[in-house]
Amino acid sequence: MSESKDFLRTIVEKDLEAGKYKEIVTRFPPEPNGFPHIGHAKSICINFGIARDYQGHCNLRMDDTNPTTEDTKYVEAIKDAVEWLGFEWDDGVRFTSDYFPRIYDYAVELIKMGKAYVDSLNEEEMREYRGTVTEPGKRSKYALRTVEENLDLFLRMKKGEFKDGEHVLRAKIDMSAANMKMRDPLLYRIRHAHHYRAGDEWHIYPMYDFAHCLSDYIEGITHSICTLEFENNRDIYDWVLDTLRLKLPRPYQHEFARLAINYTVMSKRKLLELVEKGLVSGWDDPRMPTIAGYRRRGYTPESIINFCDQIGIAKANSMVDVAQLEFCIRDDLNTKVPRVMCVLDPLKVTIENYEGSEEFDAPYYPHDVPKEGSRKIPFSKEIYIERDDFMENPPKDYFRLTPEQPVRLRHAYIITCKEVIKDADGNITEIKAIYHPDSKSGSDTSGINVKSAIQWVDAKTAKAVEVRLYDRLYSCEAPEGLEDLNPDSLKVIKNALVEPAVITDKPDERFQFERQGYFYADPVDYTDEAPVFNKIVGLKDSWSKKTKAPAKSERKPQAKKVQVEGEVAPMSEHEQALFDKYTGEFGLNSEVANTLARDEKLSSFYEDALSTLNSPVSIANIVANEVARELKEKQADELLFNAKQIAQLVKMVDEETISSNIAKQVFEQMVKSGEDPTQIVEAKGLVQISDPSQILPIIDEVIAKNPDNVAKFKAGNTKLLGFFVGQVLKATGGKANPKVVNELVEQKLK
Ligand code: ATP
Ligand code: MG
Repeated sequence: MSESKDFLRTIVEKDLEAGKYKEIVTRFPPEPNGFPHIGHAKSICINFGIARDYQGHCNLRMDDTNPTTEDTKYVEAIKDAVEWLGFEWDDGVRFTSDYFPRIYDYAVELIKMGKAYVDSLNEEEMREYRGTVTEPGKRSKYALRTVEENLDLFLRMKKGEFKDGEHVLRAKIDMSAANMKMRDPLLYRIRHAHHYRAGDEWHIYPMYDFAHCLSDYIEGITHSICTLEFENNRDIYDWVLDTLRLKLPRPYQHEFARLAINYTVMSKRKLLELVEKGLVSGWDDPRMPTIAGYRRRGYTPESIINFCDQIGIAKANSMVDVAQLEFCIRDDLNTKVPRVMCVLDPLKVTIENYEGSEEFDAPYYPHDVPKEGSRKIPFSKEIYIERDDFMENPPKDYFRLTPEQPVRLRHAYIITCKEVIKDADGNITEIKAIYHPDSKSGSDTSGINVKSAIQWVDAKTAKAVEVRLYDRLYSCEAPEGLEDLNPDSLKVIKNALVEPAVITDKPDERFQFERQGYFYADPVDYTDEAPVFNKIVGLKDSWSKKTKAPAKSERKPQAKKVQVEGEVAPMSEHEQALFDKYTGEFGLNSEVANTLARDEKLSSFYEDALSTLNSPVSIANIVANEVARELKEKQADELLFNAKQIAQLVKMVDEETISSNIAKQVFEQMVKSGEDPTQIVEAKGLVQISDPSQILPIIDEVIAKNPDNVAKFKAGNTKLLGFFVGQVLKATGGKANPKVVNELVEQKLK
């Protein structure tokens, strides 16, 4: 493994070193209620990637506990997506529905332990009883049901004796827990619905919080990796597994930041709406952010995997620029695919001084030496060029064909315009031109200066094709709903013209149509009689804020580029080397690597800090954000703090001595005073106290001081739990870990 790891791999390695598990087992657990999207690709890469890196395995599990929305067609789509990305699951697809009998047995066990009860409040009452973030909830009177009563009711729920919503099974945990999710969460609900796999056997279905941890346990999962919105569910996850006293080892849940991309919606519900309303042609419409959509559009699995690698794995949610994904596919196809010529909006050119015909031999891969292959391009008196490659009254910086300005036909001759033919409405219908016989590409002795080379096709041999030009599905950066759809996301060109080799020679399914972009033979609609090509992506970011002058002369190989705020700017060789090291060896995401590599002050600060502490990702984040802000107006030697102190700060976060929020507070102090972070943390007492032996004496003191409230609590006034916790927290000056205090107080007062 490389030295730099994301935080999940760090956890996995620690667990392996500690001998906690013999083998790493992860899972990708989608609900089969829609086609998987690019966010799922991230989760797939993480789960399958970690299993592969540590010689473990990864299960593909359908999390199918919701009978009303699930379907086998989605199961198939999920399998396709995982396979297409190049991953293999272990030993057959798993289904949570296969575990229904075992999950039911575990529920019965909890009831017998007095840890679960059948509640019969209606939905509204249940909401009311749950309390709020600032007020504890209260327990339903049904929580007093005996074990026998609960067992009987639960069995009858299973048999289908009650209506939907009449009863639920709840865990008996804590109605005043600070974590609202722990206020007696639902474990089972009644659902009289047909399940696509389990059929009509079940009338009750387990909730996510109950089914997921148990499915993980049943499969021997070691690391249950999910997105951040499940952070608060982790307490339930642990409670269920611990309360059932399951044989160890057991899985643990770890959360990472979900992927969000601008101009994109990433919710199966919203994507389903587009499909159902016919606003796209289906789940695999090439504009959809589904894996099937990208696949049909012409994206490669490599480009998507690269993208997932580049964005990295973080613990804080952020928005990724869709330009980065587009960059990845361009970058992948740039050297791989043949370059050919296509004219989308043909304008006829008659070359008056040319007779007969000839063929030019032209390489498919002009700039990339290792790949070989070429085709013959036919040429004769009548050709077509792109309509906008000619202008009668051009602006000053127009470099293509005009009445005064000759242009090179790519791989062929230079032509000069002689006459412009128009129809009655003044539209240009044809250009009459002459060619220069001594200007043939590769042996040009004409001495004529041209400013660019344009694509063209021979009129007699060109093939007509349909081209589908796709643009972003949404026109606004943070789309909410249908009103944000881009009305121009699809433009169909029925009669574009390609050089014949594209169809007859079929060198590939993907092409670069020179000067137009990358295209893919549509896997569904393409036939030899009626070829259809999808535009995968343009050659450059057409949405960038600054538009650039059209490319001069023939395209030259260029230094690798990265996206900066939607604009493409080249890096110096040195910066590029740093960037490559940061994204490669250090595993930084490309945005952070870009910020650091391009700024001499930041990269040297970063490397200084790294020489003290080998934690490249965490240090990079703080340098690229907090430190960068300070270095905007100052030089490094004007700062009161130094790289070594930043390393110390990162170390405290890595070791969980302080939270990352506290780290920001400490950083602010370092900026002002230049003190060591350890000093600041100590002086301000920012270290969390989680050690029960330090907390318990304080609890004893609080209990001793409040005998009346203790009596009331014991008499059933559970609301007072919050009072005691508050008193303890106050007595520690806010230093105690509230979660630990909560648990300890509860134990003490039992
Ligand atoms: P959606 O909200 O789009 O419907 P979901 O989270 O409900 O997605 P699931 O089928 O439950 O979809 O997700 C399967 C796995 O994929 C889960 O582990 C989930 O955390 C992960 N996942 C879903 N969306 C993203 C995302 N945007 N980025 C990273 N992982 C994701
Ligand atoms: Mg979901």
